Amino acid sequence: MADAAAHAENCARDEICRVGASLFLRGLTFGSTGNISLRLPDGGWLMTPTNASLGELDPAQLSKFDACGRFLAGDKPTKEAFLHFAMYRERADAQAVVHLHSTHSVAVSILDGVNPDDVLPPLTAYFVMRVGRLPLVPYFPPGDESLAKAVEKLAGEHHAVLLANHGPVVAGSSLANAQYATEELEETAKLFLMLKSLPTRPLTPEQVADLRERYNLR
Ligand SMILES: [Zn+2]
Repeated sequence: MADAAAHAENCARDEICRVGASLFLRGLTFGSTGNISLRLPDGGWLMTPTNASLGELDPAQLSKFDACGRFLAGDKPTKEAFLHFAMYRERADAQAVVHLHSTHSVAVSILDGVNPDDVLPPLTAYFVMRVGRLPLVPYFPPGDESLAKAVEKLAGEHHAVLLANHGPVVAGSSLANAQYATEELEETAKLFLMLKSLPTRPLTPEQVADLRERYNLR
């Protein structure tokens, strides 16, 4: 491997471990739940391994895939790798994917009566800017191939989706962007639950349209 590629891969390994530890320490994920992937400059991927705590990742043990998605080296990848690849297949611009079982987002994914095309109201400008319209993916048992197909169907239009009774899957143009969008989603889910029994003033459709235009959002 050329020096530049090796250096880029080492930086990517360190970044995944740093982000994983940060998410874990702030209680955004727990146990061995949650997984992170990052695209390498050569078109391959690094991904967090199965049964690994995001709080204690070892850069040398991350799972490595080639540009065709074939497992190459490292510990056995997360059993949820197919969720990440479903996102990458539909989003050529995605450089990273974060999937968490973050409590408030999961809580919202279990609520009855939410709009499956747009689960959370536009409570803040940053939710509109970082997450946008959030669709709910119907429930499937973990590992069910139908789940990959259901994510794929929505991923072309949405960089963030919420799996029913499970958690969010969020793609970004960098790992930082995927991380920040996942955190924005979790905080908005928390606000939504806090405000559920209170009269609220979400942004109006005009305010949302204005943000989309200003920031060139899809
Ligand atoms: Zn999961």
